Amino acid sequence: MAFTIAVDGPAAAGKGTISRAVAAHFGFAHLDTGLLYRAVGRRTLDGIKAIDAATVLVAEDLLADDLRSPEVAQAASKVAVLPEVRAALVDFQRAFARRSGGAVLDGRDIGTVICPEAEAKLFITASAEVRAQRRFAELVADGVRTDFDRVLSDVWERDARDMGRADAPLRPAEDAVRIDTSQIDIDAAVAQAIDAVNRAHRSD
Ligand code: C5P
Repeated sequence: MAFTIAVDGPAAAGKGTISRAVAAHFGFAHLDTGLLYRAVGRRTLDGIKAIDAATVLVAEDLLADDLRSPEVAQAASKVAVLPEVRAALVDFQRAFARRSGGAVLDGRDIGTVICPEAEAKLFITASAEVRAQRRFAELVADGVRTDFDRVLSDVWERDARDMGRADAPLRPAEDAVRIDTSQIDIDAAVAQAIDAVNRAHRSD
């Protein structure tokens, strides 16, 4: 049985954690589609053309351990503006979404462009300040030297690029259930997400 759960939202809203927990709850596979753009962005930092990197991308590239840095995040959002890069990554994502046994994909355009027919769609948000605070805490815990204002301006910059691009901009699908995680903890957010998927499943 194929059952796709599309999870979209801006950086550091909690969609990765929520997606992993939802996938574990339902026994579904999970794909963090941001890693595709990060893997391509990472290659451009070595001087490789984005479209060339996107065309030859393989699943193992998503396992590289330096994909989580702020530099790679910015490079990812720059290559994500390019329609030909986005087009090169569509088939991989759609094949993953329709694998048997169910799939959770998180990203920016899953419910709107990659899987408009997904059985369940979630849009995870939080204020820019709360998201920057969480990202800052993660970076500090990882031993990265940075300051809060820098992280906040990175969040604003990436939001503006992701929401402002012409091709597949970040926005909620009309039929997505919105979950704002600014004022709730992760357990409550996961519970709301599971509830929303169960409701979508019953009405399917
Ligand atoms: O989710 P993550 O922060 O890892 O994504 C990195 C960047 O990749 C985002 O800022 C966005 O520009 C891009 N992206 C995208 N579409 C997706 C997933 C990520 O454009 N489905």
